Amino acid sequence: MKIAKDRTSLREILSHSPRPTVLVPTMGAFHAGHLSLMQRAREIAGSNGTVVVSIFVNPIQFDRAADLAAYPRPMDSDLAGCKDAGVDVVFTPEADAMYFPDRSITVTETLLSRDLCGATRPGHFDGVCTVVLKLFLLTGCDAAVFGGKDFQQLAIIRRMVRDLDVPVEIISCPTVREPDGLAMSSRNVRLTTEQREDAPGIRKALLEAASLGTPAEILASARSQIEASPLARIDYLTVVDAETLQPVRTLERPAILATAVFYGEVRLIDHASVNCRV
Ligand code: AMP
Repeated sequence: MKIAKDRTSLREILSHSPRPTVLVPTMGAFHAGHLSLMQRAREIAGSNGTVVVSIFVNPIQFDRAADLAAYPRPMDSDLAGCKDAGVDVVFTPEADAMYFPDRSITVTETLLSRDLCGATRPGHFDGVCTVVLKLFLLTGCDAAVFGGKDFQQLAIIRRMVRDLDVPVEIISCPTVREPDGLAMSSRNVRLTTEQREDAPGIRKALLEAASLGTPAEILASARSQIEASPLARIDYLTVVDAETLQPVRTLERPAILATAVFYGEVRLIDHASVNCRV
């Protein structure tokens, strides 16, 4: 397994690496969800292709300095995880190796990022798009693998690839969960014991509510269940069209019940499918 810390060494390594090149962009602090993406990347690349994992805590996608500072960075165990997963190349730049101090160009998304996480995290998805496009260009990857857990991120990246004619195939993988249903997240380690015991209630509330009647009924049920916990504070709770991500009042097309919930300073997201009922 080769490790590159800057664009020059990454390009040097990849110039000798066989195609297809399959990229897994991450911010590190690996759990089984990340490892499932690496396995999928290995399947797509085949035994002869090249799997690249980037580990980069991207400062320009954080809207809260405290969240960026608190983001876990267990580099040694992450590198061991990549090795075990059969990754060929790891790209681990520092921020100054990714961004020029006087950088002035950013990718901006104007529609799909308005609601959900975009509404309360200004600039977040522009930061994501900018870093993901840079990673696509730096690696020259043929395909890239993302988790369906971050469904708004996935939809926005698919839109970026479509709108900017980026020649990268986008592959999605299902959400990997803890045995009690909590979606795995690098942020889960920051929950207190009490919060961690309470957090699977988010998934339970979403699943129970998603099978009810109208979006209004679904939202009322999910809200009352999540708010029943004194530890949980809802950031948003909404039913959106699965494709346009716009809020819906009727279920004429596949929709998604989505939430972000704060436990103290830790913000967790999850969602459940709502089948159309016409
Ligand atoms: P992150 O390191 O949190 O930026 O995530 C890197 C990639 O892992 C993204 O494509 C995420 O959607 C994906 N991911 C994060 N958590 C999970 C999970 N529980 N199951 C599947 N994929 C995940």
